[in-house]
Amino acid sequence: MRFDIPLLTEQIRAGDRRALARAITLVESGRDDHRSLALDLLDQLGTDRQALRIGLSGTPGVGKSTFIETFGLMLTARGLRVAVLAVDPSSARSGGSILGDKTRMEHLSRDPAAFIRPSPSQTQLGGVARRTRDAVRLCEAAGFDVVLIETVGVGQSETVVAQMADLFVLLLAPAGGDELQGVKRGIMEMADMILVNKADGELKPQAMRTCADYAGALRLLRKRPQDMEGYPLAMTVSALDSTGLQTAWDRMETLAHWRQETGIFASTRADQARHWFTEDLRAEVMALLTRDPDLRARMTTLEDAVARGEMTPAVAARAALAPLRGA
Ligand code: GDP
Repeated sequence: MRFDIPLLTEQIRAGDRRALARAITLVESGRDDHRSLALDLLDQLGTDRQALRIGLSGTPGVGKSTFIETFGLMLTARGLRVAVLAVDPSSARSGGSILGDKTRMEHLSRDPAAFIRPSPSQTQLGGVARRTRDAVRLCEAAGFDVVLIETVGVGQSETVVAQMADLFVLLLAPAGGDELQGVKRGIMEMADMILVNKADGELKPQAMRTCADYAGALRLLRKRPQDMEGYPLAMTVSALDSTGLQTAWDRMETLAHWRQETGIFASTRADQARHWFTEDLRAEVMALLTRDPDLRARMTTLEDAVARGEMTPAVAARAALAPLRGA
């Protein structure tokens, strides 16, 4: 595939979804020459356009696809353009993905105001995170108003998604009281909103009980500087019946506006940018080390020495960098 960066820039700025898809393929590429083009493209596109970035997490089966479909369609019906990206650590581990195997969000994927992209397959979550961040920027440059970043509730992926989102939403299913323990405290602490899905039919009373349990649990958490009065909150929704979605969106907007007015929105993004700069720098240093044949050979030798127990990892790590220090 050939990439004409000035043309691609123009097409993306014009909101061309096919160009956007091609650009995401470019940022996902592991090739060095592609990486240079990708950085050039991101630079050309600038940062003047911004979307509301919403992180959405939930274990398989809670109804993420169904929710994104109906929620996304509700937003596009209101005239908003919606992009959906995914961070799926399972695709990194097994090559198969939890979030991408089935045909998902059938109607939303056909909506001209929507754009859906499955998770990049990378060997490491760090790689997936970097590609997804680039994809978020591309979607913003293409004029999307809302970028939903979806992840499965396993492993470290929630933390990664929370670090690139303005709002973090946790989707849960109705559960028996003792299952409350199933959600890790650390994940609850990241949530701005908990949506208990499937509050319909026979499941409704159970969903309401679950919601009350989580509302209680949220009240026990220490207040964070980014919490508006009344947040984090828990509420019930039904993605299937499309109930509660309007209210959920209103609550998200209210919180986002409050954070904008207080300056918290901008300062959180600044903190996130600093965090990712450090991460990118780390990745660049690693890439630099593995690209140079001499350094790579040195790393392999040191790695073996560590594995044999002849050196401690810390000493070996420092030794690996010795040539760069001129030592
Ligand atoms: P995901 O794995 O989190 O993406 O979950 P899916 O969206 O694939 O949904 C898993 C199952 O839950 C499917 O059988 C859905 O039809 C069902 N489901 C999703 N949302 C709702 C809802 O609001 N109410 C009910 N009753 N079922 C739902």
